[in-house]
Amino acid sequence: MNQPARAATDRCPGVFDTHPAADGALARVRLPGGRIRPDQLEVLAKAAAEHADGHLELTVRGNLQLRGITDVEAVAEAVVAAGLAPSSTHDKVRNIELSPLTGRIGGVADARPLAAALDDALRADPAAASLSGRFLFGIDDGRGDIAARRPDACAVLRAGTSPAVDGPVVADIVIGGVAVGSATGPEAIVRALIAVAAGLGEVAPGAWRVRDLDADTRLRLEELTASTLDPAIGDDPDAPPAFREPIVGWFDQDDGAVLLGAVVELGRLPARLAEFIAAVQAPVVFTPDREILLCDLSEGVAETVVRVLAPMGLIFDAASPWASVSCCVGAPGCSSAHAPVREDLLQRVREGDPPDEREHWVGCARGCGSPAQSHVSVEATPDGGYERRRR
Ligand code: SF4
Repeated sequence: MNQPARAATDRCPGVFDTHPAADGALARVRLPGGRIRPDQLEVLAKAAAEHADGHLELTVRGNLQLRGITDVEAVAEAVVAAGLAPSSTHDKVRNIELSPLTGRIGGVADARPLAAALDDALRADPAAASLSGRFLFGIDDGRGDIAARRPDACAVLRAGTSPAVDGPVVADIVIGGVAVGSATGPEAIVRALIAVAAGLGEVAPGAWRVRDLDADTRLRLEELTASTLDPAIGDDPDAPPAFREPIVGWFDQDDGAVLLGAVVELGRLPARLAEFIAAVQAPVVFTPDREILLCDLSEGVAETVVRVLAPMGLIFDAASPWASVSCCVGAPGCSSAHAPVREDLLQRVREGDPPDEREHWVGCARGCGSPAQSHVSVEATPDGGYERRRR
């Protein structure tokens, strides 16, 4: 029997379809793979300063949000002009997580071209426009970081499986954490990922995500996809790690360049600081753990970046509490919130014990922005308190 469609409308915000939050319109800018060019970041920083609350909010999928927007059209125009929303019909479906360090540190292969090919193919596919804005694609370069987050459709690159040294890349296709088969070559891999999304619409019209399916329907989706693939090569991905080391600090890239990882208070990047990051003229990656990576730096530039940007609020210390806590907007920005979550988390960080595990603070049971990995949820309750729960 088909899975019933979700009763509620998918109200995921985008650039053209903003969310009317209590503090004004909210726009989400999808960054496939979390990647953004310096000139694009500069445009977003300017839009945030001139038409929103002066910050770029980092999301749990490596995207950016602008809140408190006073001129929705001006923001959309700026985002489009920067090439960050190349298609109004497909704006909200470009949800692609990519191993943040791929092509620079470790991994089986550089998975960036695969993520770009998936984005191109998605935008070229008219049927993909009807996908839920919540459906999540993943490209894992073999280290397991993205697969552990259980995207709906994930390609996991496999080592030593190419028929020749420079042979085509091979990936397992993993649906919601279950490897169903493998595909060889970028085209076949991209085709397989999009087929999972199409298959979801076939077995459960209106469903948003694979995890919404009951066991029978999920099995049908797995079988439908597997019938078009070669047998899977690797095992199913391991359970998500309880707490991965933050990518925060100074890292040596495989090519000898330097990668700097940083976090910011409350996952909010002030527009002025974003402008300074853009001025470094280096590729930037926003990770699903709300980290900001400045890549391909020389040692001299990296030293200058730390010296100039650390006093402005960019935190390069992996031991900082801000590397392991996060929160939703809470009150007054969200009308559903039972508490001023940001203020309370600021106080907790200033006055409480250092967190020894991942914490996510939320203003109500919806749990917006919760990390994919195991964490402690600190949820505001209607009586004004907070409840801690392991998730
Ligand atoms: S978790 Fe609740 S309070 Fe926080 S942003 Fe979501 S709906 Fe609002």
